[in-house]
Amino acid sequence: MTDARHDSEHWRQRDLAVLWHPCTQMREHPDTLPLVPIARGERAWLIDHDGGRYLDAVSSWWTNLFGHANPRIADAVARQAHELEHVIFAGFSHEPAIRLAEKLVELTPKGLERVFYAENGSAAVEIALKMSFHSHRNRGNQKRTRFVALTNGYHGETLGALSMADIPLYRRTYAPLLLEPIFAPSPDAWHAEPGESAQHVARRRADELAAIFERHGEEISALILEPLVQCAGGMRMHHPDYLRRARQLCDQYGVHLIADEIAVGFGRTGSLFACEQAGISPDFICLSKGLTGGFLPLAAVLTTNNVYEAFLDDSRERAFLHSHSYGGNPLGCAAALETLAIFEDEDVIARNRTTAQLMARLATPIAEHPCVGELRQTGMILAFELVHSRETRRGFDPSRKVGLRAYRHALERGVLLRPLGDILYWMPPYCVDERDLERLAAVTASAIETATAN
Ligand SMILES: *Cc1c(COP(=O)(O)O)cnc(C)c1O
Repeated sequence: MTDARHDSEHWRQRDLAVLWHPCTQMREHPDTLPLVPIARGERAWLIDHDGGRYLDAVSSWWTNLFGHANPRIADAVARQAHELEHVIFAGFSHEPAIRLAEKLVELTPKGLERVFYAENGSAAVEIALKMSFHSHRNRGNQKRTRFVALTNGYHGETLGALSMADIPLYRRTYAPLLLEPIFAPSPDAWHAEPGESAQHVARRRADELAAIFERHGEEISALILEPLVQCAGGMRMHHPDYLRRARQLCDQYGVHLIADEIAVGFGRTGSLFACEQAGISPDFICLSKGLTGGFLPLAAVLTTNNVYEAFLDDSRERAFLHSHSYGGNPLGCAAALETLAIFEDEDVIARNRTTAQLMARLATPIAEHPCVGELRQTGMILAFELVHSRETRRGFDPSRKVGLRAYRHALERGVLLRPLGDILYWMPPYCVDERDLERLAAVTASAIETATAN
């Protein structure tokens, strides 16, 4: 349904006359950074108005699972659009929302039995924070007014969610407006001392978390974290032992554990949910991104009956009055149901394990480059940390714009790699095939070569 009379340059000009893009210094368009209008998508590929093709190695910001314009999901959304596009979700309900909630309760770690819908990941985080705080209050505890978050974490852009984030580029400007969580040091294995294992870092950091709980345990409402991989923080990975200890500490001190699985949920890390690899159940799980297979904005927060019951009362003030106009949107729910049906029909988790092995095999020779400080991988997330010196692990001077140069190099060769600073990563749709990955590997190797050369 694209307008065949116009080429990419035509749309680029019209775009730049009226649009303001997210996470972008608009000054860089179009001279430093090309803007790429996309006409259509097909499997792991994006196709522009001139027929140029780009391999979507970042799953369009980690949302896409089974390919662009996936026919099964597209049909499910179209069928739903002809039945019911939307309905107020207070006082009213509908079949897709009910079926999806039943499925999510069945699939998520045990104990998560109530589903609250929202429209995006940041909203899901806001909801989990507010619900946690409000449930303590409803139980008569007014003291739990603080949150604990991890250094280098990311939880979204709205003020509450941004408050929990510790990425200076996003946070610093707005700091005067934000809540102040207690930041516990991330268990990130990158920070291992020479000779120290990832597991040991996790345990050492858990001891530091214990010290924070010992000091502040009674004021803390919840601990929020991204299980296994801090994605926006540079695809930094940690050992599951940290999550097990965090769960124990939360139980001991009556603190809620909020698992932000917005990026790592739905098979990314090798299990359907990352928490499974630590064998833990959080008190809240936040889901979005892959939930609809990358089709529509939808989020879900699941929590325990224990939290839910704290809100049951004769008073409206004790109810959770938070709402979003499009919460529980039937089109989003239909896309999510079809996405989950694909997981069942195609044994996706097993296939992802095979794909992850192939990714590892193709990445290993690339990591021999002297500027690759580390190659790390958790399931279908693989990252190359580019450094100036492998011995000292010192990064490049930001003025060299290594990541940006790699981005442009890859884009010119038909691959969408969007580095986080100087960290290049692969997080492709699950339908990526061997030829796609070989192409990705070849372009990544030459991007690293070019971007790090003097
Ligand atoms: C992307 C992301 C969010 C925010 O989700 P949006 O839909 O972009 O608001 C929150 N937490 C994590 C871990 C994310 O990766």
